[in-house]
Amino acid sequence: MRLTSKLQTKIILMLVTILIVILGANNGIIKHLFDRQYSEALKAHLILNGESLRNQLERIQGLGISAYDLVGFDEQCRELVEKNSDLSLVLVTNLTGNVLFSSDEQYKRMTIIQSDLASAVQQAKEGIFEYTLQNEHYIAAVVPFLDQNRINKAGAVIVSVESSKIHQKVSKLILYPTILTILFGIIALLLIMIPFSRWVTRPLHGMVERMNEVAAGNMRSLVQISSNDEVGQLGQAFNHMVGQIDELLERTARTTELESHFLLEQKQRQLSEKLREVSYSVSSTLDEYQVVERSIAACKQLLPYEAVALWMLSDDHPPRRFPEQGRVPIDDKFSHAELKSVIVQLRTEERPITRVHSDGLYLFVPILVKRKLIAMFMILSMEGSFTTSEVSLAFTHASQVGISMENARLYRQMREIAALDGLTGIFNRRHFFEAGAQIFTDCIREGIPLGLILFDIDHFKSVNDKYGHPVGDKVLKEVAEGTLEVLRDVEQAIFGRYGGEEFVVLLPGLEGEEAAVLTENIRRRIEALEFSTSLGRLRVTASLGIAILAPDTPTLDELLKKGDKALYKAKADGRNRVFMSPAYE
Ligand code: GH3
Ligand code: MG
Ligand code: MG
Repeated sequence: MRLTSKLQTKIILMLVTILIVILGANNGIIKHLFDRQYSEALKAHLILNGESLRNQLERIQGLGISAYDLVGFDEQCRELVEKNSDLSLVLVTNLTGNVLFSSDEQYKRMTIIQSDLASAVQQAKEGIFEYTLQNEHYIAAVVPFLDQNRINKAGAVIVSVESSKIHQKVSKLILYPTILTILFGIIALLLIMIPFSRWVTRPLHGMVERMNEVAAGNMRSLVQISSNDEVGQLGQAFNHMVGQIDELLERTARTTELESHFLLEQKQRQLSEKLREVSYSVSSTLDEYQVVERSIAACKQLLPYEAVALWMLSDDHPPRRFPEQGRVPIDDKFSHAELKSVIVQLRTEERPITRVHSDGLYLFVPILVKRKLIAMFMILSMEGSFTTSEVSLAFTHASQVGISMENARLYRQMREIAALDGLTGIFNRRHFFEAGAQIFTDCIREGIPLGLILFDIDHFKSVNDKYGHPVGDKVLKEVAEGTLEVLRDVEQAIFGRYGGEEFVVLLPGLEGEEAAVLTENIRRRIEALEFSTSLGRLRVTASLGIAILAPDTPTLDELLKKGDKALYKAKADGRNRVFMSPAYE
């Protein structure tokens, strides 16, 4: 736990400095006063000692000291210094300043040359003097030997103390009060200053708490103003600032909201525009293969991921992937079993699912038509993620693709139905003419031979008459099937119902002999057909005419006419036979 804040530390430091300055000044003043008092006392003490020594000398000598040979007084001077630690040097001089007795042997017989002191001795001035002797500074009391008329008759007693000794003494004496003052100062600091600093910092603490709340986002957190001092003003400024920030934030939030609404709307507009474009591209064709190709391209445009493939699913054949070639790093990534499980899940859930694989994350989007799964998109994200909006975009696209696929399928079916004969399932007359005209032109342009067979069931009217129409229909159907079987290996052969019980075959690439052999095979196949009816077994025959493209047949109609003539010839020749029209008439 932190005991003091930085401000508290500063306040404490400031107060400690003040305390030190006060203590220092206090100490200086005390020392000065003490010094003065001590000096006064010392001076009195020095004079007292000097007077006592003088009196002693006077008593010993009677009045007047003139003899130099007063024995043992040096000893007394020394004793005085030894007993009295305040004293440093005791001298007794004669009137001329010659030292007669001394507590220190080295000064004996020396003449005092220090001018102030010497003149004081000579003029019998009693008092305190300062002098320097052998680099030592002394304070001395001069006590002259005076007679009744106050005239100096003999000299003076000089009681000295070294200045440094005085300073030492004073310093020693003042040490304890100083220590005590410092101790009191520290206690005062603890007792007064810390609570004082707390008293100063408490409102600031409150403000810091509010600030933290504001920083955490609570703009309603305001400081309670309880004073009008600097702290109070700071609180007011803080509250004002919070108010301003709150307003600014609100304004910013409103602007951001508007901006994000605008951006979202713009993005959605762009997206729906894109979706509209791609769905137009997909739905503007009725060719199934183009629908698939455009769906994949559109999907790539909507979701620019690493790879997109489309699987066509059908009950009749295994799943087929588009594009079947190209840059699709999906090849063989999914085993049959995995794909099957994906398909099963899509069928059940009817919404996009994801699968993690070695090269990334795969998104499978079902293409449903009337809730039937007809295909699926497979989109690879190597980064391993799809956003929710991307998934729903892909699903929307897939549902449009589903509609387009269904339309194309219905269109194909419709075209097939329109091209086929309802009874036999082979091309009807109209479609035969459409497809035949194209083949006819191609063969002429490419110089490819073209054979035509026209055949008619013999006495078919009597079949109807005798066995009934349903049997007649059955005969027509089986004749068509049998012929288809014979034509199975003939590439590009077009087989159609020409009308009633008449059939037509176009054989690109076939001429003469080959056509004749094939026609004979058809005849035999029909002849071999057997029908069991209520009236017993029935067999039919057909007459067949062959015509080969030649300069005299510049149009399909001409070729047909030629074929018809050949057929008529076959009928005329006794039916159940093939007649090939001459190469060129
Ligand atoms: P021929 O040997 O000269 O060809 O004699 P044919 O009886 O076959 O010739 P015809 O043209 O007189 O008769 C054709 C018959 O085919 C008449 C018609 O009722 C019958 N027919 C035409 N279309 C159908 C059909 O779709 N179903 C049935 N059952 N009969 C049909
Ligand atoms: Mg006929
Ligand atoms: Mg007939």
